[in-house]
Amino acid sequence: MKKITIAIDGHSSCGKSTMAKDLAREIGYIYIDSGAMYRCCTLFCMQRGLIRPDGSIDVESLQRLMPEIQVSFRLNASTGRPDAYLNGVNVEERIRKMDVSAHVSPVAALPFVRAAMTAQQQEMGREGGIVMDGRDIGTAVFPDAELKVFVTASDEIRAQRRLDELRAKGEEADFESVLANLRERDRIDSTRAVAPLRQAEDALVLDNSHLTIPEQKQWLLERFKERTA
Ligand code: C5P
Repeated sequence: MKKITIAIDGHSSCGKSTMAKDLAREIGYIYIDSGAMYRCCTLFCMQRGLIRPDGSIDVESLQRLMPEIQVSFRLNASTGRPDAYLNGVNVEERIRKMDVSAHVSPVAALPFVRAAMTAQQQEMGREGGIVMDGRDIGTAVFPDAELKVFVTASDEIRAQRRLDELRAKGEEADFESVLANLRERDRIDSTRAVAPLRQAEDALVLDNSHLTIPEQKQWLLERFKERTA
């Protein structure tokens, strides 16, 4: 059977990754978390002191150092899911922390950062058989994807999910700052000049505010079966 390309976009913390990972595992496709790639670029900036105390980015230095940023994914045998590596170091846990979340959207809005990440993502999906989640997968990275889904949920539900996730990992955070962070990221992601977050015209919309994880998984699996029937 021909392997298709599946693009899953949507707002911050709406559960895209969970759905995308579960589907990929079930159907034997590769899963790529494109947000992790922008988080790796952000962590690189933090490590190299390219984010100033006022939050602004040393854009000139970042552009010069871009060729030094190598992002890759390797399967973690104990979780069964891919972990993100920055220049050969496993940064899967580090990039999910709030300090990275606080700086990622301005880094991801830089056109040369997007150009580099988009080229890598397109290369990863050249053969099809991929599920990729992000903000611009169905609009800019794989505009010809056979199945496109745009996921959303209410702000408060997304913030609560994110908070639960952080606390489960032992990170202290409060509801108001998580909510403010995801609203700010959505605002920057939706208003940037290059590849803004928006629903592709041919995307199926899923509001999962009141769906359980198994229900979402089932919904997505059915859409996949329809497309490949
Ligand atoms: O998906 P996640 O929330 O981990 O993504 C982190 C950030 O990376 C987003 O808030 C957005 O700024 C950026 N991003 C992007 N394009 C993508 C995926 C993520 O700009 N395709």
